Amino acid sequence: MVLGGRLFYIVADSLQQRQLVRVPLSPPRGMDDILPDEFPLHRRLVETVRLLFRLYGYREVETPTVEYYELFAAKSGEEILSHMYVFKDAHGRQLALRPEMTAPIARLVTGKLSKSPHPIRLGYVADCYRLDEPQWGRRRRFYHGGFEIFGSKEPAADAECLVIFNDFLARAGVKDYFFKVGHVGVQRAVMTSAGIKEEDQDRVLALLDKGRVEEAESLVRQHAGNSEAVQLFSELAAHPPGPGFKTLEEVRERLGQLEPAARELENLRRIIELVSQNIEPSRLKYYPGFARGLSYYTGFIFEAYGSGADIALGGGGRYDGLVSLFGGEDIPGVGFAIGLTRVMQYIMDKEGAELGPDTPLAYIAPLAEEVIGHAFKAASEFRRAGIPTELEPSVYSASESIRRAERRGARFVVMIGRREAEKGTVTVRDLVERVQEEWRADEIYGQAKALLEKVGVGV
Ligand code: AMP
Repeated sequence: MVLGGRLFYIVADSLQQRQLVRVPLSPPRGMDDILPDEFPLHRRLVETVRLLFRLYGYREVETPTVEYYELFAAKSGEEILSHMYVFKDAHGRQLALRPEMTAPIARLVTGKLSKSPHPIRLGYVADCYRLDEPQWGRRRRFYHGGFEIFGSKEPAADAECLVIFNDFLARAGVKDYFFKVGHVGVQRAVMTSAGIKEEDQDRVLALLDKGRVEEAESLVRQHAGNSEAVQLFSELAAHPPGPGFKTLEEVRERLGQLEPAARELENLRRIIELVSQNIEPSRLKYYPGFARGLSYYTGFIFEAYGSGADIALGGGGRYDGLVSLFGGEDIPGVGFAIGLTRVMQYIMDKEGAELGPDTPLAYIAPLAEEVIGHAFKAASEFRRAGIPTELEPSVYSASESIRRAERRGARFVVMIGRREAEKGTVTVRDLVERVQEEWRADEIYGQAKALLEKVGVGV
């Protein structure tokens, strides 16, 4: 029974009693079903990510959706911790739905994969959960497609991340996009020079990430041992973003004699130099005041934006201390996650990507009860040839079968009546060109192959 279009009553059969239970017909708030019309686009994005795993040498892994809460509590940052789904299991253990995948991947590198030769490149496609306030592009369940490299401190590893993301966006068909790049190593070096402890630095960077610049500055002022560093921190935070190399020069000048910060900046320059062969310079903007919410970042950071929405399509950066935090060796890491759900919403709503379900290419229609066996056989031959094929389990007239095939979006309807069964043939009608042929049963495979070549689609 449908109530108000959304609520549904079902009769639940328990051992003791039958009772009426009210079940909402929609998933929990902020979570989405992926429906047949949407799935091909979702799958195309996921397949693009998987193609890039192969092309760039990342080995795909999967970890459970549920992890111990402590895995994330260690270093995911206040912002994420306060938005986590946390619950206890029957034994009182505290568990969480994963809000991101870098910590689970670092868990693997610390444990089961600790003997793998370096660098270790790992990839994943995973649904993540955050109790964010649902809105456009911000969901409580969303997909991350991610790439992580462990065991290299070299800027070429950071640069590879940007190049892969650029490759993804180009293949996904995002037209107008750019990368916001930054380097928390520079801000951290400035804060270290002022004697600010790492945990306080994390808090400052988290505030910067949320755009709460004044609060970040006042925290720096509160913990800093010298006013020069406070001034420098504020100048970096306020420095206008701009094209990569030009802005690097401006910041370099400002850093003056502060060697540790200048070294971090040099690292950023090298990364930008390395990617400039693959990524148009106009797509790279350096934001000296940029920080990211996860507190494990130690160096280069970046996010991708489409020009149609002021919301990141993905991001990542360098996190050199993460593995040692879990008790492993001191293995450096850099990586990023593409927000696949957000990218999908972006290309649908801002770039007009078309939706539509997977459709069969052939629709097999038995026209009499006694030919169903023949229809089964014919369907197998079509599939053997690689043609997506739907078999109609009921019997309809020829005209009704054609109507049904059209409604399914099929290109060919394959009709088998008593006459065809006796002659050992099938009738194949092309619903686009409106022509019809009769094939012998033993030539179905060959003919179907030829059809596939002609229409140029298949699986
Ligand atoms: P983060 O782990 O926060 O760096 O997230 C990486 C990317 O995942 C972001 O840039 C977004 O594209 C995507 N993302 C993060 N949170 C959400 C969310 N609540 N809903 C949809 N996408 C998200």
